[in-house]
Amino acid sequence: MIKIKNLVKRYGSNYALDDVSFEIGEGEIVGLLGPNGAGKSTVMNILTGYLSSTSGTVEINGVDMLESPIEAKKYIGFLPEQPPLYPEMKVMEYLNFVYDLKGTDLPREEHLSEILSVVKLSDLKHRLIKNLSKGNKQRVGIAEALIGDPRVLVFDEPTVGLDPKQILAVRSLLRTLARRHTVILSTHILGEVQAVCERVIIINKGKIIADERTEDIVRTIEDSYRLRVKICGSAREVEAALSKINGVRGVTATGERDLDAYAYIIETESGTDVRRAVFSTCVSRGFVLIGMENVGTDLETVFIRLVDRSDGARTDKKKRAKR
Ligand code: ADP
Ligand code: MG
Repeated sequence: MIKIKNLVKRYGSNYALDDVSFEIGEGEIVGLLGPNGAGKSTVMNILTGYLSSTSGTVEINGVDMLESPIEAKKYIGFLPEQPPLYPEMKVMEYLNFVYDLKGTDLPREEHLSEILSVVKLSDLKHRLIKNLSKGNKQRVGIAEALIGDPRVLVFDEPTVGLDPKQILAVRSLLRTLARRHTVILSTHILGEVQAVCERVIIINKGKIIADERTEDIVRTIEDSYRLRVKICGSAREVEAALSKINGVRGVTATGERDLDAYAYIIETESGTDVRRAVFSTCVSRGFVLIGMENVGTDLETVFIRLVDRSDGARTDKKKRAKR
């Protein structure tokens, strides 16, 4: 349904995207995950024809975005990072306006009222957009994307700025939409991908560093067990002592200070729990342990892990080449 090949976007000498390729099949729901500045919006803006690429191709349902932008765009409903709503318009008025703009040929009344009920805005259709809550404004943006019943839905950070209750509501809406559409959404929150997507494409500094089924990524994360500790004592001695504990792969000082304690990340072999050993080592060496938490599942850890893994694969290849 979506084919992206060797996409490059350059701003001056900076690469916002550096050779990005992926394909998304009909009916998939895919999360584009990455930290701020990774290139998510750039991918989505190019994919939807709102931004031109430096090089590379985008095909939607076999139609090339550069060659036939009008036809290709017909397949896509897009919720940009900042949906350009008209605050002085009423919800229904705005959706009618978009309906005309898109040249939709579905029965107007029926189509718009169906969309309003899907996004749960039927009761607010006569309200001015500027008086809606942030969550409901987001629903107007989603409604706009749904007009014309496009086969592909592209949502750029659809839950940013919403409160926890609104986030859950939008996620559940996304899952509902995914039953009838191909959906790609971007987010910087791993939990969002876990909650909504079957597949995750991870992007970092303009490059794709992973493209896997969500359950497999989650397994990768669960494999990596990292402990964050705060310990008072000489940093050199603490690092040396912690490194000697059975099952510890590495100890890194984060550079962060809390009063007279330093913070460290302890990485362990999967399946080993070193917390007791860390505690008793501190006691026997006279260090004071003032904090310990598992940091195995945050996005940063996943990135480090995945980057490590791809670097590892590269060195393996080099080693093999040398032989
Ligand atoms: P994300 O959506 O993942 O936060 P973006 O796609 O918005 O990331 O940005 C990717 C990179 O491209 C960032 O480093 C950003 O600073 C850069 N960038 C985006 N738009 C422009 C622009 N108009 N001019 C220069 N650099 C840009
Ligand atoms: Mg963005």
